[in-house]
Parts: sequence; structure tokens; C-alpha cells
Amino acid sequence: MVRICLGGPDLAGLHVEDPAASVRLLVPSPPAGELVIPDWNGNEFLLPDGRRPALRTFTPRRLDTDALELDLDIVIHGSGVASEWAETAEIGDRAAVSGPGRGYAIDTDAAAFLLGGDETALPAISQLLETLPVDRPVQVHIEISHADARIPLPGHPAAVVSWHQRADTAPPGDALVAAIASVDLIPDARVWVAGEAAAVQRIRKHLLEERRLPRSQTTVRGYWKHGRAGGAVDD
Ligand SMILES: Cc1cc2nc3c(=O)[nH]c(=O)nc-3n(C[C@H](O)[C@H](O)[C@H](O)COP(=O)(O)OP(=O)(O)OC[C@H]3O[C@@H](n4cnc5c(N)ncnc54)[C@H](O)[C@@H]3O)c2cc1C
Repeated sequence: MVRICLGGPDLAGLHVEDPAASVRLLVPSPPAGELVIPDWNGNEFLLPDGRRPALRTFTPRRLDTDALELDLDIVIHGSGVASEWAETAEIGDRAAVSGPGRGYAIDTDAAAFLLGGDETALPAISQLLETLPVDRPVQVHIEISHADARIPLPGHPAAVVSWHQRADTAPPGDALVAAIASVDLIPDARVWVAGEAAAVQRIRKHLLEERRLPRSQTTVRGYWKHGRAGGAVDD
């Protein structure tokens, strides 16, 4: 994961209210090319040559509305335009952002919280740990693909964080699905989970059908889809 700090006067007016919100990042495509701003044709954004622009969704990890700076933490995973751009970006390189998209409205009456996610959810989970009521228990389960992906998380006095390293041969999200399935859930807990789309779909099914949690207590979001460029379908 690398931290990209975007800055510039165009960030004036961007406000993010809730944690775990999103912004859309436009990067050059190919990653080493010039940034071209697409046009809206009434239906979708298109580049002048008819190609779809490289727009990807990220968590606005830190927004400083005075300094006009926005930090994004981007997972380096190999072969995606945003990942490749972030891996090689240098000071002065150009990118654009739009947003924000909806965040997570914290229910301050909840008895407890369960947070789950993979590496793409670390920025959102970090924000949630900074924001959740300090007197409520928080269970956190995070799947990582390799030991180096573990990062320091913000402290929360009542949080217990468990890291789960996925086996090399296992599909993404497998360890997270198993971890969430074995959690001893405090009644009335609110659940927030994000990660690979197929894995979080399994988690959603488990929470709603096996644990019979009311839908209103669960927020489960597909952040990316294995084998599909452009992020998850429900971006
Ligand atoms: C609300 C929201 C918030 C998000 N916040 C963050 C964030 O803060 N940080 C972050 O890194 N991501 C975040 N994501 C996920 C991010 O949008 C996707 O991972 C996106 O696909 C990355 O774009 P890319 O150009 O690097 O790869 P793409 O071009 O989209 O994908 C290329 C290939 O890489 C695979 N791929 C994509 N992402 C991953 C991954 N993480 N690990 C392994 N393979 C992958 C795809 O399946 C595809 O086969 C968020 C998504 C949503 C919906």
C-alpha cells in the first residue's frame, strides 16, 4: 500500500462528512501517459478518442480542507491502472478526483461493532477506529495477502484486532469469510465489512441468512472484483 497525497486549489469545496466514504480517482491511461479529462456524453464519461477513462474508487483517508490536501492509501496489487500509477507516481504528476460518495453513518446507540475487510478496506477501517464511540467494544478482522501488508492501525480503547493471512492458494476473501463466520457476535452489534465482491457476498449471506441479522445492522460492500478491472459492480 502506498500513500498518495493529492493537492491543489481544485480541492476547495470537497467535504467528507462520514468515515468510509469514497472518491473517484482519475489517472492517466496508460499510467505513464498524460492526464486527459474525459467528457460526459449524458450517459458516461469518455475520452476524446472514445476510450473509457481510468476511474477508480478510493477512500479519502485524510482531507485537509485548509491545506487543500487529500491522502489516498492505494493497494499495490500488480496489474491495475491505479495500482501501477500509484507505484510509480512522482511529485508533480497529475490526477483528478471527484466525489465524495456515501460514507458510513455510525449508529451511536449500537452496543458493539464488528469491522471486517481486506487490504483495500484498511483506510476505511482506520477511519472507523478513529470515529467509533470509545466506550463500545469493537471486533476487527482483517485479511492480508502477505505479512508485509499489516499496517499500524489507529488506537481504540475497546478494539480487538485480528489479522488473518490468506493461504497462497486460497481465493481472495477466504480467510475473512472464515473469520467472520466464527465471530462471537455481541447482540445488537453493527457490522461493517468490505472487500472482494464474491467474498463479501458470502459474508452478507452468512450474516442475513445464518445469523439472521436485520439488514439495517449490516453494511457489506464489494470494493473490488477478482478478475475484473474497474472495481466492484456496486461501486
Ligand atoms: C467505496 C470503495 C472504497 C475503496 N477504497 C479503497 C482504498 O482506500 N484503497 C484501495 O487500495 N482500494 C480501495 N477500493 C478498491 C479499488 O477501487 C479497487 O481495488 C480497484 O479495482 C483498483 O483499481 P486498479 O486500477 O488498481 O485495478 P483494476 O484495473 O480495477 O483491476 C485490474 C485487476 O486487478 C484486480 N484487483 C483489483 N484490485 C485488487 C486488489 N486490491 N488486490 C488484488 N487484485 C486486485 C482486478 O480483479 C483485476 O483483475 C475501494 C473501492 C470502493 C468501492
